[in-house]
Amino acid sequence: MSRLVVENLHRSFGGVKAVRGVSFTLDGGELLALIGPNGAGKSTCFNLLNGQLRPDEGSVTLDGTPLVGLPPRRIWDLGVGRTFQITATFASMTVAENVQMVLLSKARALFGLWRPAAGRFRAEALEVLDRVGMADQADRPCAVLAYGDLKRVELAMALAGAPKLLLMDEPTAGMAPAERLELMALTAALVRESGLAVLFTEHDMDVVFGHASRILVLDRGQPIAGGSPAQVRADPRVRAVYLGS
Ligand code: ADP
Ligand code: MG
Repeated sequence: MSRLVVENLHRSFGGVKAVRGVSFTLDGGELLALIGPNGAGKSTCFNLLNGQLRPDEGSVTLDGTPLVGLPPRRIWDLGVGRTFQITATFASMTVAENVQMVLLSKARALFGLWRPAAGRFRAEALEVLDRVGMADQADRPCAVLAYGDLKRVELAMALAGAPKLLLMDEPTAGMAPAERLELMALTAALVRESGLAVLFTEHDMDVVFGHASRILVLDRGQPIAGGSPAQVRADPRVRAVYLGS
């Protein structure tokens, strides 16, 4: 069985059918890109997977556990993490403190009322920061970081939640092209090393075709193509609807 199994998801907003019959699977060690024009239903899919929205129809399972109907916090505890399009760090806190806060929250979820001191997680925070190349900036407040470094801290905060599945909705928004490729190369390396499963959206096709292991293409809420980067690039429906050629 695949780690994530998504079957026939549907979700409407009033008369708008944002997601219509989306199905896919995702395994550990894979980086799946969800692409499609603006309004295709990508963000809605993310919100359906992490419990922020409930589907009208369809099912989602993580390692066999059904997720539909569970609150977002419970879904996070079960191993679905996400990074955000908008910056979610506390600016006045240091890089390490931001990561420690997530580690503390995870420990509380696992051990209930036990309240470890936040400082206990410093060593663990430094380990996570080392994985994204930010250990040397651990004691700087987030407020002074360059934008690309802030994105790495956000990735570290997502990793600190020990996800089995990481959802990244436009992780490279606002970054320069070289920085985008760098962040996704880092993410791809983490996926290979740790067996994490990643679902991401991205507008930059160099990033998508350069780093995704598979691609799923949505158009007006519906999957229209999927497969390896080579298969998707050659698909005439994709070229017509999305690549504009
Ligand atoms: P994408 O992320 O691919 O750009 P979205 O999932 O954000 O697309 O949106 C898909 C469609 O659903 C769009 O037509 C959008 O306007 C609509 N939509 C998304 N969220 C809401 C909402 N909370 N209320 C009403 N309509 C929404
Ligand atoms: Mg979106």
